[in-house]
Amino acid sequence: MSLSILQPHPQRCHYPIRRWPRMDSSFHRRKDKVVVIMGATGSGKSRLSIDLATLFPVSEIINSDKMQVYRGLDITTNKIPLAQRRGVPHHLLGDVDPSLPEFSPADFRRRAGHLIEDITRRDSLPIVVGGSNSFVHALLVQDFQPDSNVFQQDEELISSELRYRCCFLWVDIAFPVLSQYLCDRVDDMLQSGMVDELAQFFDPEASRETESGIRKAIGVPEFDRFFIKYPPWAGPAGPGGEDPLRERAYEEAVRAIKENTFELAERQMKKIERLKRAGWDLRRIDATEAFRIVLTSGSNHGSDVWERQVLEPSVKIVKRFLME
Ligand code: ATP
Repeated sequence: MSLSILQPHPQRCHYPIRRWPRMDSSFHRRKDKVVVIMGATGSGKSRLSIDLATLFPVSEIINSDKMQVYRGLDITTNKIPLAQRRGVPHHLLGDVDPSLPEFSPADFRRRAGHLIEDITRRDSLPIVVGGSNSFVHALLVQDFQPDSNVFQQDEELISSELRYRCCFLWVDIAFPVLSQYLCDRVDDMLQSGMVDELAQFFDPEASRETESGIRKAIGVPEFDRFFIKYPPWAGPAGPGGEDPLRERAYEEAVRAIKENTFELAERQMKKIERLKRAGWDLRRIDATEAFRIVLTSGSNHGSDVWERQVLEPSVKIVKRFLME
């Protein structure tokens, strides 16, 4: 089943413009306001960001997923395709050269900090979106310590003193529903050409011990193990065909990708909960029902439920924040 209904789609997402008046930029008079959309991988953050950016013009999106900042592997890292961005400017999405040293939280703080200054100077609203909570933390805290891993610290040491006025939307989904969705999403990504993308990226000379940057993206190590046995230049990169050993190796790579994606989602949810307990004012939006409907019926009703249960409350929260 295609899950594209949960991605922003020009035809399916005309509802915000039709139903709600767009806000004008005089809404947010203060220059230090930032909307931040958080949530585990696959929770619909990108869709919500586009919906909100369409309703609150002029907004610009800053990506905070640490794999999507790099150029390349667009399917594997699940970057929102250009056609689905509906003209909303995106920053730090595929902008970083993957051959440079790993892009750190400190790099993100510096680059995204400049972007926020620039976007607000132009009277636009910055919307930060992505699943890497270490990036979000680094960008927002008043006092950032580059050498400490904040998520390994005691909760009471996590500061909630922030350098911008933030409106946090936390898109949450019950884990059993999210994991089913993620499983189907990996199948969709495979169908969309993920294996060919990874085959082109495969480097037999690359060190497997010191992977960094985009080489850590889920899919790269899993398929490297497959390509070492079955190099892409020895035949088509896909599943096994006639060879049962190759078929098994392919299935093992796919199983590992799914497993690692579930684990990533679980880690991300725990980090968000830690920030919440540390006093970050995260507003939880429950998207479970919208996802459940798409998974069980595959129907378009998912869009109505999304609009009612995710978009409407988010719009209310952002509107109030911008009027403060
Ligand atoms: P942080 O811990 O900094 O908040 P995070 O939530 O992205 O970051 P980590 O627990 O550090 O998650 O795991 C990061 C790993 O997750 C990456 O090394 C990569 O394996 C995988 N990962 C994260 N985002 C993506 C993505 N968009 N595409 C593929 N793999 C990803």
